[in-house]
Amino acid sequence: MQAVAEPLRQKHYNATVIDRHDVTEDLFRIRVRPDRGLPKFSPGQYVAMGMGFWEPRVQPSQFEEVPENKQEKLILRAYSISCPLLDPSDRLVTCADLDYLEFYIALVRGADDSETPPPALTPRLFGLSRGDRLFVAAKITGTYTLAGVEANDTVLMISTGTGEAPHNAMTAELLRRGHRGKVVNLTTVRYRRDLGYVREQQSLMRQFSNYRYLSLTTREPENLDPQCPAYVGRQYVQDLIKRGELASMVDDALSPENTHVYLCGNPAMIGFVPPGGAPLLQPGVLTLLQQAGFTRADAGCGHVRFEKYW
Ligand SMILES: Cc1cc2nc3c(=O)[nH]c(=O)nc-3n(C[C@H](O)[C@H](O)[C@H](O)COP(=O)(O)OP(=O)(O)OC[C@H]3O[C@@H](n4cnc5c(N)ncnc54)[C@H](O)[C@@H]3O)c2cc1C
Repeated sequence: MQAVAEPLRQKHYNATVIDRHDVTEDLFRIRVRPDRGLPKFSPGQYVAMGMGFWEPRVQPSQFEEVPENKQEKLILRAYSISCPLLDPSDRLVTCADLDYLEFYIALVRGADDSETPPPALTPRLFGLSRGDRLFVAAKITGTYTLAGVEANDTVLMISTGTGEAPHNAMTAELLRRGHRGKVVNLTTVRYRRDLGYVREQQSLMRQFSNYRYLSLTTREPENLDPQCPAYVGRQYVQDLIKRGELASMVDDALSPENTHVYLCGNPAMIGFVPPGGAPLLQPGVLTLLQQAGFTRADAGCGHVRFEKYW
């Protein structure tokens, strides 16, 4: 396989892994430097990355049968560009300060049934080490950006898991610009150990009084075990919004008159129903915001943007 793989890598790959930080065994932050340098891009945008079907998968991993016509093809997936937030001296950095791209990626384990195809790219990405090569598309793209945000507006970013990535890029940009309104970056993860940027986020909150990083968990003992002294049950952002608790937590009305909202990650949290689609049994954040007067229609205050990861 090695003899076949090397010429294919040389032909297709155009970027090098320069660093990898494992947050957990299923979650990493990885830095990639494209050979041709970086085009200008806006915080919040994404790029396609790829590796060949010929690459090995990390183990344990689902069995995958690669048909012959795919064996020399690239697997391409979209990844939001994240931001390390701080330099080694704990000073704020933005994506524009860097000559590499940082990504925040979860290893997808896939379903246990035999009908769902095994995840193709992440079991290969998780085999990468510093110095290894991969493909990064030339074009960085996407409309999930800070366009239309004015200096005094409140910016509310809500994510699940690695959906925090574009919000970190946008946070760094807003803080660097001297944004005067509140910047709220809320994420939901299963376990506290899944918070891949918590140290940086806490430092940023100490440095910028208008910045709030909030995290919710769903699988810690206090979420699952009623006997646990700190029991709060599973915490969903939908409940915090419905009960008005999010607004009190950040001491801001979070109203359509002053707030831009960004939703990124798990489609169930976002809850987008396409025109003509059946309503969801559990409404997502989008429905609650629309009921509160937010709209997807324009780029001013009251605007909701979302990025579904699947
Ligand atoms: C615009 C955009 C930006 C994205 N940015 C990121 C990012 O920054 N980080 C990131 O980890 N992923 C991101 N994704 C998801 C990413 O493109 C891949 O879908 C994901 O990495 C799985 O790839 P795969 O080939 O291993 O699995 P696939 O063979 O593509 O299997 C897809 C299945 O995996 C599940 N899945 C996909 N993404 C996730 C996830 N993040 N967490 C848990 N389950 C998931 C879903 O059930 C989905 O149906 C983004 C997707 C889009 C559309």
